[in-house]
Amino acid sequence: MIAGHMPVRATKRGERRTRLERDCDVLVCGASFAGLAVARELAGSGARVLVIDRYEIGERQTSACAIPTVWLEALDLLGSLRQSFDELVVHTPFRTSRWQLPWSFSMFDYRELCALLWSQAASPELEFETATVTGREGLTVHTDRGELHAPLVVDGLGWRRVLSNATAIQPPNAPLSRGLEVHPEGRGEEMELWLDARYIRAGYSWSFPAGDELRVGVGSFWPSHRVKEPTVRLAHHVGLAADGYQGNWIPHQLRRASEDGVFFAGDSAGHCLPLTAEGIRTAIYFGLACGRELRAVLEGGRTREQALARYGAFSDSHARKYRWLLGAQRAMGQINPSRAASAIVHGFENRRVATWVFSQYLAIAPPSFVGDGSRSTPPRLAALAA
Ligand SMILES: Cc1cc2nc3c(=O)[nH]c(=O)nc-3n(C[C@H](O)[C@H](O)[C@H](O)COP(=O)(O)OP(=O)(O)OC[C@H]3O[C@@H](n4cnc5c(N)ncnc54)[C@H](O)[C@@H]3O)c2cc1C
Repeated sequence: MIAGHMPVRATKRGERRTRLERDCDVLVCGASFAGLAVARELAGSGARVLVIDRYEIGERQTSACAIPTVWLEALDLLGSLRQSFDELVVHTPFRTSRWQLPWSFSMFDYRELCALLWSQAASPELEFETATVTGREGLTVHTDRGELHAPLVVDGLGWRRVLSNATAIQPPNAPLSRGLEVHPEGRGEEMELWLDARYIRAGYSWSFPAGDELRVGVGSFWPSHRVKEPTVRLAHHVGLAADGYQGNWIPHQLRRASEDGVFFAGDSAGHCLPLTAEGIRTAIYFGLACGRELRAVLEGGRTREQALARYGAFSDSHARKYRWLLGAQRAMGQINPSRAASAIVHGFENRRVATWVFSQYLAIAPPSFVGDGSRSTPPRLAALAA
């Protein structure tokens, strides 16, 4: 977040920030994509689930909010959709290419998507509170409002991995990418990417229209490279004001998904995909997997230790794909400004190549996974299936 543009976020302040000390069955820390996906899988379990976040749900968007449309469909979240694209327009210094995708990307509204996920998680035993997590001792989580305790604790707190006592993650030395974008009012018809060292040496820049605003930004694979100046330059280049900054660090290396009795999902576990920095789909995917393991423990089907081991192994089973993407990310850092990069980008104009590559890419976290849980099918999907 850029100094001087710090908005006031909704959270409990002053006298309303009462003491919060609680024992519950499941404590989900973080109410963004990963945390809400975990909570969604616990709906109807009868467990006392407490979800906490430093801000109210949906309050702080950090992402451009692009996701494969099939994921929105599978999760019954189409109500948050703003705009869809089945073509990617990719600019290099030498040419502009058009990639026909075998599936479309959609831009969604962060607040609306979070509200929908939360409503899917709703059950009488589910509660939300605003609290800032400061650390953990065993299964007691320290917050600015008091201590919370649960036998099942989830860290969905994002890149900082707050609940790990093993690894301190400190930019710019940690394996993190960084991204910053503006979202001025405006309309557009194309989902555009720039692979152009004039904006960023290792990384990419984007302009994604989302209804009545555009999300224009720059991502760097190298954490020491600054992204504000090129973001402003790109916004001006496409004729837009640099309004409404939002940015964050983005992990690009898989981390341990279970550690010291705690479940980690989403950016806290390094689940964001390297190379593309697509981390929403994967945060939800691993959040669902985590929620299913927790549910099995609550229903007596397995012990917490078994669930930790199974979830950790599930996450690890994706390691080869993450390593492959990280290798491609590193290679791109070497060749980005060259004609070779432009030739590769051009190669994707071949529809069969694009179909194969993007189908493989979607299969890393496929939408069919949504229907694999024991949680009941959302009513709309049930109606479609009937
Ligand atoms: C500029 C930018 C654009 C991006 N665009 C896309 C995109 O278009 N598509 C895509 O798939 N991915 C995108 N990403 C990546 C994506 O945003 C992340 O991978 C994704 O948000 C991870 O979800 P998460 O739930 O794990 O963590 P987060 O979304 O980071 O959520 C963490 C939650 O924890 C809360 N929290 C953090 N610390 C504390 C604390 N100490 N106490 C209490 N609460 C706390 C936060 O308030 C937040 O609600 C983008 C990233 C950036 C930076």
